Amino acid sequence: MSDFVMTIGGDSVPAVDSFGVVNPANGEVFAHAPECSREQLDGAFDAASKAQRDWKSDESARRATLLAMADVLLASSGELAPVLTAEQGKPLGEANIEVFASAIWCQYFANLETPPQVIQDDAEARVEVVRRPIGVVGAITPWNFPLTLAFWKIAPALLAGNTLVLKPSPFTPLTTLKVAELLRGVMPPGVLNVVSGGDELGAWMTGHPVPRKISFTGSIETGKKVAQSAAPDLKRVTLELGGNDPAIVLDDADPAVVSRAIFAGAFNNNGQVCSAIKRVYVPESLYDQVVDGLAAQASAITVGDGTEAGTKLGPINNAPQFERVKELVADAISHGATAATGGKAMDRPGYFFEPTILTDITDGTRIVDEEQFGPALPVIAYRDIDDVVERANATHFGLSGSVWGADAERAAEVAGRLECGTAWVNTHLALAPQQPFGGFKWSGIGVENGPWGLAEFTEIQAVHRSKGADGLNITIGGLVS
Ligand code: NAD
Repeated sequence: MSDFVMTIGGDSVPAVDSFGVVNPANGEVFAHAPECSREQLDGAFDAASKAQRDWKSDESARRATLLAMADVLLASSGELAPVLTAEQGKPLGEANIEVFASAIWCQYFANLETPPQVIQDDAEARVEVVRRPIGVVGAITPWNFPLTLAFWKIAPALLAGNTLVLKPSPFTPLTTLKVAELLRGVMPPGVLNVVSGGDELGAWMTGHPVPRKISFTGSIETGKKVAQSAAPDLKRVTLELGGNDPAIVLDDADPAVVSRAIFAGAFNNNGQVCSAIKRVYVPESLYDQVVDGLAAQASAITVGDGTEAGTKLGPINNAPQFERVKELVADAISHGATAATGGKAMDRPGYFFEPTILTDITDGTRIVDEEQFGPALPVIAYRDIDDVVERANATHFGLSGSVWGADAERAAEVAGRLECGTAWVNTHLALAPQQPFGGFKWSGIGVENGPWGLAEFTEIQAVHRSKGADGLNITIGGLVS
C-alpha cells in the first residue's frame, strides 16, 4: 500500500518526511504516512478558517453534504476496510462495520433538527436561544476505532457550521487520510483537512491560535495535557478518555447467558474499546459457573490475522500496548491471580495475546485498578451488593458500567448507583448516534452524540428582540432599572 497523502484546502499534500505504519498482524511496516510540518499545519488551519466563512452560512448545503459523505463511505467500504484491517488489526468484517457506522453517523446528523427555543414572546420582547458555530475545530483521534470515532466528531462539527483539522493516531493514520481524499469531491475545499504525524503534531494543534475548540478522544494522560494546552486561550474542549468499566452480575442472573454477553462486551475489538467491560464482579454463588463460561469462550474463539476468514479477534494494535497487556497480566499472576485460560503472548509474529480470563483476583491488583485495553479480563468474587457498588465506584474512571440480572428493575436500580456516563442493564457497548456518550470524573469532559454532542460544537446565543419603541426597556429579571 502506498500513496497516502494529507488533504489540506482540498488538495493532496505529500510531506517531505514520512513515518512507517506497522501491520500488527506481523509487526512489519507496510506503508508510510506523511509527517505534517508546522507550516503545513498552519496551512491546514488557514484553509479551515477561510472555508468556514461560507460553510457556516448555508445549513441546507451542510445537511446535503453530510448525506453525500455517507454515500461516499457506503460506496467505499471495499477500498477502506482492507486499509483499516491492515493498520488496526481488526477482522475485515468489523472493519466494514466501522465504515458503515461512520456513514450512519453522517446520516443521523444530516437529519438532526435543533430548532431555536423561544423563551419569551410577550409585549416586552421576543427572546430566542439559538446555537452558533464555534469556528475551526481541531480533532484528535486514537487507534482503536480510527474511522468511527473521527465521524463522531466530523458529522456534528460540520453540521453545526464549523470546519475541521483532523489528526488520526500515528498507529492508524491511513484510513482517515484515504477517507479525506475520497470526500474531497462532495465538500468545498478546506472544510475537512486531515493531517498526519506523531504525538507532537497533536500538541501543536492544541496550542495553535486558530482552532476555537479541541475535540479529543484518547487516554486520560493525554487528555490532561490537551486540557492544559487548550486553557491559555480558553479553547473549548471535549475530552473522551479512558475507562475501566465494571460489570456487576447479580445473584439472580443466568450464568450461561451473562457469561456469553459479558465475553462479547469485554473482548469486542480484542478488548481495545474505551467502554469495554474491564472488570467483572460476580457473586460467590455464581463465580465458578461464570468463570467457566467466560473461559470456555476465550479458549474457543479464533484469534488471527484480520484478513483470514473465520478470524474473530485480531492482534493488539501496537507494540507499546502489547507490552502493557503482557505486563499487567504477568503482574496479576505474580500477585496470586490464576489464568483460567490464556495468560501469555502467542508464539507467532505480530502482537497476538491469548484471550485471558483471570481469577483469584481482587481490587488493588493493577489489572483491576487500571485500564488494560486488551484481551485480558479479571473476574472478582463479591458477597455484598452495597460493598461491590462502592468498589465499582472507587476509581477515577467513570466512563460506563453494566449490571446483569433476571430482575431488570432491581438491576436498573443498582445501575443507577454507578458513577459513570452510561449505565447499561443486561447489555454493554450498546451505542447509538442519538445516545449521549461521555465520562464522569477522569473519563472525560462533555459528551458526544445526540443533540447534546451537537451542542458541544456550538456557542449558545440569546437573541433578544425588544418590542419597546424607544429601546430603553433595560430590565434585570423583569425589574426595570
Ligand atoms: P493517546 O492518548 O495515546 O493518543 C490519542 C491521540 O492523541 C493520538 O492521535 C495521539 O497522537 C494524540 N496525542 C498524543 N499526545 C498528545 C498531546 N500531547 N497533545 C495532543 N494530542 C496528543 O491514546 P491512544 O493510545 O491512541 O488510545 C487509547 C486510549 O483512548 C484509551 O485510554 C481509551 O480508553 C481511550 N479511548 C476513549 C474513548 C472515549 O470515547 N471515551 C474512545 C476510544 C478510546
